[in-house]
Amino acid sequence: MDCLFCKIVNNEIPAEIIYEDDQVIAFNDINPQAPTHALIIPRKHIATLNDIADEDASLVGHMVQVAGKIAKQLGFDSTGYRTVFNCNEHGGQTVYHIHLHLLGGKPMGWPPYQETLKTPV
Ligand code: 5GP
Ligand code: ZN
Repeated sequence: MDCLFCKIVNNEIPAEIIYEDDQVIAFNDINPQAPTHALIIPRKHIATLNDIADEDASLVGHMVQVAGKIAKQLGFDSTGYRTVFNCNEHGGQTVYHIHLHLLGGKPMGWPPYQETLKTPV
């Protein structure tokens, strides 16, 4: 399968891996948007959030839990951080293997930039 993140899982493409276990790996984003910007991905290929089956629910829960563990390890669990799943075109998804963005180490604004939306809110 021609999937960038499956290639990272299979060690065919290098990445700065910061966490791994039997279900997930986490590595630094190549284009960081915060002092820490990691991606937590399942070893199993799941294309989008729309493709999460009932049997994947605990796996996705584990991804969220791992984000919290990494935040604690890096020391920004108390100050706070952001986690994001982008889904499909309007969500800004560019890699079609689900990944949880973990952004931390600086205060972040909310809501996201309005100009990136295709239709006015
Ligand atoms: P998306 O836009 O799909 O939510 O997020 C994809 C993320 O993957 C982007 O933040 C992008 O910078 C990151 N990315 C794309 N290609 C690579 C790569 O080859 N290595 C790493 N480490 N990150 C990548
Ligand atoms: Zn994949």
